Amino acid sequence: MSDSVPQKKGLAFHWKILIALALAVITGWLLPHQIGSVHPSEIFAFVGDLFLRALKMLVTPLIVCAVISALGKMEGGEDFARLGLKTIGFYAITTLMAVVIGLFLVNVIQPGNVSEETSRTMIEMASQHAETKKTAMEERGLGDIVDILRRMIPENIVAAGADNREMLALIFFSLLFGFFITRLPEDRRIRYSLWWEDGYEVMIRITQWVIRFTPYGVFALVTATVAKTGIATFVPLAKFFFTVLLALVLHTFVALFLLMRSFGISPLKHLRAHIPALLTAFSTASSAATLPLTLECSQVNAGISKRVSGFTLPLGATINMNGTALYECVVVIFASQIYGQHLSLASQVMAVLLALMTSVGVAGIPSASMVAIIIILGAVGLPAEAFFLVVAVDRVLDMCRTAVNIYGDAVCAAIIARMEGEAVPKIAA
Ligand code: ASP
Repeated sequence: MSDSVPQKKGLAFHWKILIALALAVITGWLLPHQIGSVHPSEIFAFVGDLFLRALKMLVTPLIVCAVISALGKMEGGEDFARLGLKTIGFYAITTLMAVVIGLFLVNVIQPGNVSEETSRTMIEMASQHAETKKTAMEERGLGDIVDILRRMIPENIVAAGADNREMLALIFFSLLFGFFITRLPEDRRIRYSLWWEDGYEVMIRITQWVIRFTPYGVFALVTATVAKTGIATFVPLAKFFFTVLLALVLHTFVALFLLMRSFGISPLKHLRAHIPALLTAFSTASSAATLPLTLECSQVNAGISKRVSGFTLPLGATINMNGTALYECVVVIFASQIYGQHLSLASQVMAVLLALMTSVGVAGIPSASMVAIIIILGAVGLPAEAFFLVVAVDRVLDMCRTAVNIYGDAVCAAIIARMEGEAVPKIAA
């Protein structure tokens, strides 16, 4: 946040976060497992949790104020419908691009094409792991997709606001609220819109204050994760790990970069503007917790209007998950390869469509896609416990895919700003 957070002269904010990240990997690696009865990583986890809680604390009021004040800046129903359609259209297109890249690579690299003995050992380990996590797998099915739509309309808006997994419901209500403010008589509409805009300004100031602590929060969170996860677990899953990583990289640096170029946006300037948000997404593995930084980076560093970013980014943090959809698809095809169960073209298309649909309902919190993956596994005839084939590397890949999720939102916000005629000189090509 080189421009937004007031700095003393010195290192730019994103460098501070990067250094914190590097130091955290080293510290987590060197950290002893036990000192007396204390597990030192718990101290880091505690500090990281304080930071995470401070970010999560902002999510509900920030979404409500951002969405309502963005709608207040729109000129009636037509403006709202146009922006809404563009946003949802772009989110669907970029998610489809991501899934297709993942599907292509997992079919070409075939990370699950291992010897019979290795696949038998992996399947045994997965089912042992699944035994301990039975509740997470119970009664998951296609009905859960219908439930995503049902839960979009909250029975109780206060309850939805109290649960960070119900962001879609909160956005739905905020959209309605903002829209009907525009239906008030002119003088009251202006007065009431200004009230919400002031609320948003206050939220932004609180956010900027919390964001100052990002390097410390990132250091603590990543140290705890590295100390807990270790490095050795990657080895048997290395090929799978790199397939996902390569797909995420191609989606980000080829597909999304080309898309931005075609709209006259400099991908590098845009990426640079969003580095603090991307590093926070990586460290927290939570799109919801990163939303305050995403809004800040898009508005202050990239110069995108509050009208566009306040509308697209909260929606994106909830329904647009490029990285998650890609991951869901790769995991399912990988599992089919390990189980030696060839998926027909029709089943692969079904996996793609379900990855698209379920990624909309995945909450922006760590490991939330597990449920979606279990749904897709069931739909293509694989056992739910197949998810546990990849559980050892899930956390690190969660960090990577969350960064891509956030990046996908930021790209759409920039493109829609351009389509809406915004000059956005800070990121112009
Ligand atoms: N952690 C991801 C996010 O917050 C969701 C997931 O893929 O589990 O965006």
